[in-house]
Parts: sequence; C-alpha cells; structure tokens
Amino acid sequence: MKNLIAGNWKMNPNSKKEAQELFDAVKKGIKDVASEVVICPPDLFLSSLKGSALGAQNIFWEEKGAFTGEISAVMLKDLGVEYVIIGHSERRKYFGETDETVNKKIKKALEVGLKIIFCVGETAEEREQGETQEVLQRQIQQGLKDVVDIDNINVAYEPVWAIGTGNNCSVEETKESIDFIRKFVKPETIIIYGGSVKSENSGAYIKQAGANGLLVGGASLDAEEFLKIVKSAE
Ligand code: PEP
Repeated sequence: MKNLIAGNWKMNPNSKKEAQELFDAVKKGIKDVASEVVICPPDLFLSSLKGSALGAQNIFWEEKGAFTGEISAVMLKDLGVEYVIIGHSERRKYFGETDETVNKKIKKALEVGLKIIFCVGETAEEREQGETQEVLQRQIQQGLKDVVDIDNINVAYEPVWAIGTGNNCSVEETKESIDFIRKFVKPETIIIYGGSVKSENSGAYIKQAGANGLLVGGASLDAEEFLKIVKSAE
C-alpha cells in the first residue's frame, strides 16, 4: 500500500505566480518518491497546475444548475482533478457542513470517479468529555451512509484541536483513533493523520501510529518543509 501525502493549501497563496512556484518546487522534489503526493490548491489554480496529482478542497453535491458560487464534482473530473477533500473541519465549522451534506458530497464524488479524502475528528471539548470514539463513529457511519463501495475512500483522522494550532496529537492517541477508525472501513483502506504536521513529527505518525500517510495544511505552503515531510514517509 502506497502512503498518501496530501497538501491542503486552504485559501493560499494570493497569486497564480506564487501558486505556480510552490507547485513547481514540490513537483521537482517528489519525482522519485514512493508515496502518492497530492496537492490541493484553491479551485482557481487547478487548471494551470499540471504534472502532479491534484485534489480539490470541496465540491457541491449537485451536478449543475442554479447554485451560485459552487463547483461540481463533474467539473473537477473534467479538469483532470483526481482527489477531493470532503468534510474538512473548517468546512464543518465555517460553512455549515453536516454529516448529511458530507454524505451527499461523498456519494456524488464516488459516482463521478473522484478519490476522496474524508476528514473526521473530534473537537477539544468532545475529547475532554470522553466522546472521541462516539464522534468518530457517528461521522464515519453517517458520512458513509448507503455507500456500498469504499475503494476510493481515504479517511483522514484530523482532531479539530490539532489543526493549525501547533498542538499536534500524540502518537499514542493517534494510534488509538486510527485503530478505532479501522473497525469501520476495509483492512486496505488508507487512513491518514492531519493536524499540525511538521517534518519533526511527521515520520512518527507513519512509523509508530500506523497512519498510511498525512494531510498537511500550513506546512504544505513551504516547499522545503513539505518535501521533508514527504521524505519522512519513505
Ligand atoms: C488541514 O488543513 O487539514 C491541516 C491539518 O492543517 P495544519 O497542518 O495546518 O494543522
């Protein structure tokens, strides 16, 4: 099984020129790596970035029509995009994404043939209340409701409190959650970790926590640091 390392650029960078430079630097550095490396830039840059696997950060579940501001899975597929992140905690927090809308998006992405990076994870409060496993189970079961074929699903365990905070999840706690998530998917399903991953901590998630890769936010905006993370998974 290949490790999956995805870079989520979120709403960065500010210009096409910077996006191209960052992409080119990453592309150059991943030529001989064994992992599947996927760059997820803002949609706007997707059509100009070529020569390496691309992912979108979101989709809408309808195929076309009067849905101002939305982008469909079919449009992304047509552009040659291979992956889509669905259910990221920032979408759940700021854009009203629910387990139900996550489920609709997953079904549409699968129908169109996109590979999915399905994000699940508990908030700090939920962890403090001892609800981590309950939350993970609910997000997975509802997100995958009526989904029969999960071959194109990759699950990202992203504790919300670890995202963008510098407060990464411990290897032990990550292992516990990954082992728990494994009960709801196939033995060969890729489960990756995300949350303040840096080159100093990245290798341990793969070598000790049993993650099959990483979802990297902030650190993916620095080509040198991102490439160190990619190398740590080799
Ligand atoms: C993310 O955006 O999915 C993420 C994990 O961000 P960061 O690496 O910055 O915590």
